[in-house]
Amino acid sequence: MVVVLKPQTSREQMLVLAENLKKLGVNVAITEGVTGYVLGILGDTSKIDQERVELFPEVEKVMRVQEPYKKANRKFHPNDTIVDICGRQIGGNKLAIIAGPCSVETPEQITSVANSVKNSGAGLLRGGAFKPRTSPYAFQGLEDEGLELLKVARANTGLPIVTEIMSPKYVEIFEEAVDVVQVGARNMQNFDLLKEVGKMSKPILLKRGLANTIEEWLMSAEYIMASGNENVILCERGIRTYETYTRNTLDISAIPAIKKLSHLPIIVDPSHAAGRREMVLPLSLAAIAAGADGLIVEVHNDPANAKCDGPQSLTPEQFQDLMNRIKPIAESVGREL
Ligand code: PEP
Ligand code: MN
Repeated sequence: MVVVLKPQTSREQMLVLAENLKKLGVNVAITEGVTGYVLGILGDTSKIDQERVELFPEVEKVMRVQEPYKKANRKFHPNDTIVDICGRQIGGNKLAIIAGPCSVETPEQITSVANSVKNSGAGLLRGGAFKPRTSPYAFQGLEDEGLELLKVARANTGLPIVTEIMSPKYVEIFEEAVDVVQVGARNMQNFDLLKEVGKMSKPILLKRGLANTIEEWLMSAEYIMASGNENVILCERGIRTYETYTRNTLDISAIPAIKKLSHLPIIVDPSHAAGRREMVLPLSLAAIAAGADGLIVEVHNDPANAKCDGPQSLTPEQFQDLMNRIKPIAESVGREL
């Protein structure tokens, strides 16, 4: 962190300020420039609130030279993190393909979709039991019964299950029941939830918030990691822009950005990004080509009658086609399916 002082600051004022800054647990390197003093703050600046430093009357400007996230930062952890889920890896050479319905609806529906995505080569099963719906009158998910149905689908197929947690009060139940705990876009900055899932032993799939920057997203990963859980998988799922033709705008550039800034794996959700079935394939191809570590895709056995997100859900046949089509793209970027 670099602190530029106002030109009229005297040497005495500067020394008092430097002492005050040292009380925050850092070292201060003093430089005298032509127009005034510049203080270099050295050490762990992650606990220093930039706005607090800006409030000192002698301070003209404060600039961070290092990112505020440490555990999620590639600088301190140069090698890619590979997250292990029941022997399946996310972040290694093999792509992770997670597929399944938006929400668990009936025993027949989840069993049928689980079997078909497995046969097409998916490595994990998704399905929401607790649904974050915009309307309180919309289907909220089967809740605990949905979790039970996911467990049955896992027992039948062997596919690990990925499902969304909405409240810290479900941490114990999820710890026991699920293989990957999804924190949805709407909860990306639910800091109480992040701290609680940070105490879990299960990997966390952290979706990017609807209107959050990459740095805010990595700070949310940092919350989980700072609580003790370093198995975080990031998921780009589209962000809000002025475009309304698509549900969201898939930020493809987030993939190389995350790869540069962080060692955590990143997967892409083309379904919630597009909101339109016909775009799921091209966005998946683009995501893999850009270096994503996998995909999470919505698939439904009867999209026209789905209780949630039918318009963006692929049929099992379309999902099979997607798997066929991403294979050569994966190979062309040195990855395997
Ligand atoms: C979902 O994956 O079912 C979901 C609700 O996604 P998001 O949080 O990205 O909107
Ligand atoms: Mn959905």
